[in-house]
Amino acid sequence: MQNLTLAQISKGLEAGEFTSVEITQHYLDRIKQLDQGENGLNSFITVNEELALAEAKAADERRAAGNATAWTGVPIAHKDLLCTDGTLTTCGSKILSNFVPPYDATIVENFKKEGAVCLGKTNMDEFAMGSSNENSYFGAVKNPWDLERVPGGSSGGSAAAVAARLVPAATATDTGGSIRQPAAFTGLTGLKPTYGRCSRWGMVAYASSLDQAGPIAQTAEDAAMMLNVMASFDEKDSTSIEQPVPDYTATLNDDIKGKVIGLPKEYFPENLDPEMASVVRSAIAEFEKLGCTIKEISLPNTGLGIPAYYVVAPAECSANLSRMDGVRFGVRCEDPKDLEDLYKRSRGEGFGAEVKRRIMVGTYALSTGFYDAYYVKAQKIRRLIKNDFVAAFNDVDFIMSPTTPTPAFKTGEKTGDPVEMYMEDVFTIALNLAGLPGMSIPAGKVNNLPVGLQIIGNYWNEAGMLNMAHQFQTATDFHKEAPAGIDSNR
Ligand code: GLN
Repeated sequence: MQNLTLAQISKGLEAGEFTSVEITQHYLDRIKQLDQGENGLNSFITVNEELALAEAKAADERRAAGNATAWTGVPIAHKDLLCTDGTLTTCGSKILSNFVPPYDATIVENFKKEGAVCLGKTNMDEFAMGSSNENSYFGAVKNPWDLERVPGGSSGGSAAAVAARLVPAATATDTGGSIRQPAAFTGLTGLKPTYGRCSRWGMVAYASSLDQAGPIAQTAEDAAMMLNVMASFDEKDSTSIEQPVPDYTATLNDDIKGKVIGLPKEYFPENLDPEMASVVRSAIAEFEKLGCTIKEISLPNTGLGIPAYYVVAPAECSANLSRMDGVRFGVRCEDPKDLEDLYKRSRGEGFGAEVKRRIMVGTYALSTGFYDAYYVKAQKIRRLIKNDFVAAFNDVDFIMSPTTPTPAFKTGEKTGDPVEMYMEDVFTIALNLAGLPGMSIPAGKVNNLPVGLQIIGNYWNEAGMLNMAHQFQTATDFHKEAPAGIDSNR
């Protein structure tokens, strides 16, 4: 039962093959078996068993009353930075380890309206800062493909949970690669939409001008189903853009013959691991078989992406995280002497090392005397990067590349060197700086570990990307492979 996709679960519920209570209980049992305890994957921070079963029961009743949608009774999980009314929302941080929001994020509300069932909240790098899910106050997450390896980050909990079939799909967010990189590391399909496509209201901000929510799922079809619910215009979010939401599942079967795919030479550098390059190139050859044509292109400012991001993102996070002060919400230090002591110790004790590093870098970059040299310069680079893409999309329909330079690495392998960890996002980060949509789909394996192919689309062309991905998945089976051992008792 656990290998069912969202689309299959939706059909199964409709056909009366099982009830929402049955399928919800099935996943809750799997979570107990595979996720919890010392040897568990640790992909969930909170499992809301009682609430999930109550939602499932309500969904079954709604179906019996004849007003179910495709989503009614379908179980999902939310990344633990989306506010959930009455349910703990920690952002993977000690400072929010007691935070129970009094409202739902718009995305959470969108799923509730459809009658979807939320199994719980998934683990993540603290405040979405990281590429390995090792920065969580609630402990690292294991990659179900190899328990000694990381699932990627920051949405590592969502990715590990879907890969181990503890939930059929989950929400995630991507500021520099946090949907695509974990999807690549766990053999899944992940999509970061155009900036402004999904509401950020109720989504705890890391870097507001880069953050965007999207799905992690088993297939492009499921990602399309997820995006149908996640995408919406929201007047409560001033960066939400008023664009109609198409039915992303309606165009999955369109013919992709004649589409032009650009391969940027900067994304296939000479030092790219030859096995990674070969997996990605054979996936691209599959698109040629489907009638697409390939064109070499150049995105000359690619190399400036990581340095620009590590000015812009810390600058924005230093401002966003200033609200975590131990006064209004979150954890407060014991017995503060005075207000200054309260601020200092609540923040000092509440934030982890990587978050503190970024707050310091960001505060420095924004301070008088350095603002022009760092922040303004980074914003100018951002425009150059965007201009590269705009020019490229005059000649091509999509751009393709590896999602990551390597497959999943070992836990602890990169924690000693932050810059090495930052390089994980070398192929994903430019899209966030430009606000473009991108996705990762499973393209094969290296050393028995999944490898992702990145598909970059022009602004608002999520439907086109999903169409390309679905056609690839109709012709190939990479997305069907699940990690060995997820059926056994661990
Ligand atoms: N790995 C990047 C970082 O640490 C991106 C994280 C993200 O997309 N949230 O900031």
